[in-house]
Amino acid sequence: MNVLFVASEVFPLVKTGGLADVAAQLPRALAALGVDVKVLLPAYRGVLERCPDARRLGALTALDYEAVLWGWRATDGVEHLLLDCPPLYDRPGGPYQNEAGEDWPDNALRFGLLCAAAARLCGPESPLAWRPRLLHAHDWQAGLAPLWAKAAGGVPSVFTVHNLAYQGVFDRSDFDRLGLPDPLWRPEGLEFYGRWSFMKAALVYADRLTTVSPRYAEEIQTPEFGCGLDGVLRARRDVLRGILNGIDTTLWDPARDPYLTAHYDREDLSGKRAAKAELQHALGLPKAPEAFLLGMVSRLTTQKGVDVLLDASGALGDRPLQLAVLGSGERRLETALRDAAATRPHRFAVRIGYDEALAHRLIAGADGFLMPSRFEPCGLTQLYSLRYGTIPLVHPVGGLADTVFDADRHPEGNGFHIQPLNAAALVETVDRAMAHYGDGAAWRRLQRHAMAADHSWDRSARAYLALYEELAA
Ligand code: ADP
Repeated sequence: MNVLFVASEVFPLVKTGGLADVAAQLPRALAALGVDVKVLLPAYRGVLERCPDARRLGALTALDYEAVLWGWRATDGVEHLLLDCPPLYDRPGGPYQNEAGEDWPDNALRFGLLCAAAARLCGPESPLAWRPRLLHAHDWQAGLAPLWAKAAGGVPSVFTVHNLAYQGVFDRSDFDRLGLPDPLWRPEGLEFYGRWSFMKAALVYADRLTTVSPRYAEEIQTPEFGCGLDGVLRARRDVLRGILNGIDTTLWDPARDPYLTAHYDREDLSGKRAAKAELQHALGLPKAPEAFLLGMVSRLTTQKGVDVLLDASGALGDRPLQLAVLGSGERRLETALRDAAATRPHRFAVRIGYDEALAHRLIAGADGFLMPSRFEPCGLTQLYSLRYGTIPLVHPVGGLADTVFDADRHPEGNGFHIQPLNAAALVETVDRAMAHYGDGAAWRRLQRHAMAADHSWDRSARAYLALYEELAA
């Protein structure tokens, strides 16, 4: 079975969030089941430099742009197809935004080209001899690929929603520039309140829809979580299903993690105490083994509830705990967190930026892990935390509800629920967690439950394979 993945970010070549992890690890897990997956992504600035052994596979022209396709095999053997079009992708800044944090003004064209290239690989004009049996497109940036792949080569598609809040909404002028036909400009097609969106194109035209947790698949059919597309999703509920993401259990393994100097496992947690001491030292926090250390690694956005944490910071600062936050995102939230840390340097440590090593050390060294997300399609960091015996405190939505169970309500509890989502409930939940933490035996039991969960990719990959087989039949 040949499957073409289309994604706008793939770890380790380019990553802003969980999509990059999924786009790297799911193909590997599928390959282990015998699926031949190739992953198409744009060659942003720096990507080709990171792949010095990439081979030129061919060229294509689409949307009046000429692009070169490079083939690069990752160390795990999965082939990546790098779409090289310097006028669109060779720029400073991130994959979606410039250095000032504003969306690139020509994103419709940039990701339109990605979708057009995917479609080309599905049809008779492909520069490759390899032909996909089906296409698996991810998030809005790949949203036009299902429609165009069907037109180009009759190739069926699966579309996965990693985050419905980002939809790729553009003006009519972009619709025309991408050569989309007039009959699609209607509410049953791509039109969305006088504009149009890549996400809607995928939700309407892909053959199967998935999202990254069963709970989120239900939630997005409601007005509260549907971001204006709940009606479209309800209309397609028969082809929509939720498949929980896995995690890379080799990269995220407290017994082998190369970012840690002391290792540990479910039987012997002593290395975790060392990780905590090292983290406190690295962050300039008092070396207090008994202090409850609450960690957070996240994009700093209102989705992630950073504003709720800020509202709670006064009350948290009055408690005998330490708070360590690593993240980057909205400037005003970054600034407010820095200010909060400056007023309580002995309790709060904030590091703004993207830091893979610190993310590992923080998740290993913390006692609790905070995720007050307003919505969370799946969430990866709670899964990493569970594996590291770091107890998640979460707002139970989406994948958080599917993977974290409250220790005060569930015999196999592995975390705590913040409910409803507000500062008072967050503080109350921290108090409950600290009460458990104060009882060493109870806390270790909680850690063992957490560390027993199996979130390896194999199970998810089998669910995707079943879907592919159903579609191919
Ligand atoms: P989302 O995709 O919504 O950002 P996920 O929990 O699904 O959230 O995935 C986030 C991923 O990004 C995780 O792998 C997490 O470790 C990583 N991450 C987020 N912020 C940072 C940061 N500042 N430094 C290092 N890794 C980060």
